[in-house]
Amino acid sequence: MLEIHTVLCRAGYMDNYSYILLDKETGTSAVVDPSENAPIIQKLQELGLHPDYILNTHHHFDHTDGNLELKELFGAQIAGNFNDAKRIPGIDIAITPGQSFKLGNSVAEIIDVSAHTQGHILYYFKKDKALFTGDTLFNLCIGGIFEGSEQQMFAALQKIKSLPDDVMFYPGHEYTMHGADFAFHYNNGNQQIRTYLEKAQNRLQQGLPVAPVSLGEEKQCNPYLEAKDFTSFCSLF
Ligand code: ZN
Ligand code: FE
Repeated sequence: MLEIHTVLCRAGYMDNYSYILLDKETGTSAVVDPSENAPIIQKLQELGLHPDYILNTHHHFDHTDGNLELKELFGAQIAGNFNDAKRIPGIDIAITPGQSFKLGNSVAEIIDVSAHTQGHILYYFKKDKALFTGDTLFNLCIGGIFEGSEQQMFAALQKIKSLPDDVMFYPGHEYTMHGADFAFHYNNGNQQIRTYLEKAQNRLQQGLPVAPVSLGEEKQCNPYLEAKDFTSFCSLF
């Protein structure tokens, strides 16, 4: 069983989410996309954890800035995409997309979603129904297409769409409100988007992350997942 703790980093300006993962059976732990170490180390201390691994979704600084310090402090091994090894600071474990990564007894499938960056990957813990989407999928919106094409982003989103509805996804930023207005209008203010936004606002008012949301809910409310073909996807930009 996988335990997941969300840590808000760069609060109020970039609103990154880093995640602390603990495989309960073996006590093996990891940090996904260490953005800013002060809040992460504080949470690790609270939990009494020394991370064994760092899992990077992509090379951007706001997802990898903590890599080297956590490696030095805890001897954590840094995992990332083999195809982007040159840009992942301190990489130790170069994973080929399509292969899997073992965090103790918890297994993540590594899915290539190059588009936001070339070499962006997802960590999909199939048994635990948890998907770490970095800067590819956010609540109600998606990441910018910086190094790929719209075609690649569309293909990446189809991969996510093909995963089961009861998988919960964990994005790299709190960007729900960035996508809220557009999603509301795109969905003509229907019941699904109203329910989604009510829940989201409730969470945010309590100072809680909107994530995780199920892929099932996201597929019904996120315009970029709803787009049925490439042409309608392109018309969203
Ligand atoms: Zn990024
Ligand atoms: Fe980012």
